[in-house]
Amino acid sequence: MYMFKTICCICGRRSFEDLCRCCTVFEAYAGLKCKHCGAILGGKECQLCSVLPLKFGDIKWYTTYLSALELIRAIKFKSKFQLCKYVGEALFNMIEYNYDLAILSPINQQSFLKREVNHLFFCAEKIKSRLKIRVISPLKKTKYKGKVKIELANDFKQVERVVFLDDVLTTGETLRQSLKILREKAKKVDAIFFAISNPNILSHLVFRARLNSAWNRSI
Ligand SMILES: [Zn+2]
Ligand SMILES: [Zn+2]
Repeated sequence: MYMFKTICCICGRRSFEDLCRCCTVFEAYAGLKCKHCGAILGGKECQLCSVLPLKFGDIKWYTTYLSALELIRAIKFKSKFQLCKYVGEALFNMIEYNYDLAILSPINQQSFLKREVNHLFFCAEKIKSRLKIRVISPLKKTKYKGKVKIELANDFKQVERVVFLDDVLTTGETLRQSLKILREKAKKVDAIFFAISNPNILSHLVFRARLNSAWNRSI
């Protein structure tokens, strides 16, 4: 007879783990994403990356926001931080290089004050312990009149290669503004997301050009 140890944090069914099998989030389009930009093209490298490559580094993502919705909501709005390990596992598995530093995407000051914790710290736990790299959150994000503003709140020493971690990529505005700051701080920045709202955005020329110009304003 099987003994269920706990209940699923999402559906409440009896389960062996904090997430039952039905609520487990699997990788979307596994093997079909461009290894540089994450666009779904059924190949290792997309054509866009040879014409208009991302200058700062690579973008990787694990699943679609729709598939990850319940999991992300449970963490963010119900404080089920024990679920961060599932996000962390996915983020960790996408890491391919020896990074000098992991930088967490800034969360809104307003949500930070409400929850008093940046859940991304928990999500990055495995990356920190297994890769033995520093995980920091030096950026501050505020919203003013509906516009996002990101600043460097805690300065840090320049490094070679940074991995930027976030749970969701929506419009890319947080990444874009972060790149404007990080270009002074690192030679290369790869961005790794747990979920993406719309994978088509990655092959969008305007989106790519905006990110590139944030990295290097001289173009
Ligand atoms: Zn469940
Ligand atoms: Zn590509």
